[in-house]
Amino acid sequence: MALSTKVSLLAAAVGVLAASSPLLAQSPDKYAEGDAIYAALRQSPPDARLTIGGSEIDVLFADGAPGLDRARVLAWVRTSATAVSTYFGRFPAQRVGLLVVAEDDDRIRTGTTFGYAGQAIRIHVGRRADADTFHSDWILVHEMTHLALPTVPRRSLWLQEGEATYVEPIARAQAGQLDPKEVWRWTLVGMPKGQPKSDDQGLDGTHAWGRIYWGGAAFWLQADVRIRQRTHGRLSVQTAMQAINRKSGGNVADWSVDQVMAAGDAATGGTELSELYAQVKDAPDRVDLDTLFAQLGVGMQDGQVVFDDKAPLAWVRRQITAPPKA
Ligand SMILES: [Zn+2]
Repeated sequence: MALSTKVSLLAAAVGVLAASSPLLAQSPDKYAEGDAIYAALRQSPPDARLTIGGSEIDVLFADGAPGLDRARVLAWVRTSATAVSTYFGRFPAQRVGLLVVAEDDDRIRTGTTFGYAGQAIRIHVGRRADADTFHSDWILVHEMTHLALPTVPRRSLWLQEGEATYVEPIARAQAGQLDPKEVWRWTLVGMPKGQPKSDDQGLDGTHAWGRIYWGGAAFWLQADVRIRQRTHGRLSVQTAMQAINRKSGGNVADWSVDQVMAAGDAATGGTELSELYAQVKDAPDRVDLDTLFAQLGVGMQDGQVVFDDKAPLAWVRRQITAPPKA
């Protein structure tokens, strides 16, 4: 079905985003398709059930995943879920099945998130992955953020990938798991890759991975800055995403982009999301990143991220990665 094609694209694109991953270098994968993952999750009771707030994460080690350190894997799942729960105010799915596939290497590689028959994630974990690899992993948090927003038509994949790309490091920073400077390093290095090239059109319909991931992330960053400015820091794109998550139930729902934007705007009492979408959907949306980063007071000097707390929107930059108020 169409969604299977879509998730294949998601998985492949994550491989490209990771940059160091040779694309689809892993051995032939019996869990490549969503149907196989759902079947595996249904056929066996979970090896572990983690409860996070009122949500349940059922972890299944595919084929027993011999050689994997299960305690380490489960601690990492909990840490990742905590980051996502911090951002969304709760874990964004009531129940998710997580299929952990063991690989013969030392990495955590591509994950894929599914929603067409319940919420499920598949992730590949190397048997020789060490503590640093688990500590620095971003892929599982990225996948878990995909649970939060509804599935939109494939031509607007940028909305979902941009959301995960934007939220993942922020969620980890808000949970105290990542230095805010690393959030901005990721942003400063990555976001220029989302700019339209001469033959690019709008974000809707684009097939370019840089546009999908980083053009999408720039969309959410701009919306975040604008909502915080209008509300003097009272509300943010986080407010909007939390509301969209609660209203939709997450990626099991199929929504139009207009529905997503309307629900987000309703939550903040503004029009930033709808207006920004109208601006970027069909026309190339070159973002003046130099000005935006200067206003936020963030830049790179000699390979180091530097903050300027006198910049006009330095307070917005600080707010974005600050732990949410209780
Ligand atoms: Zn993704």
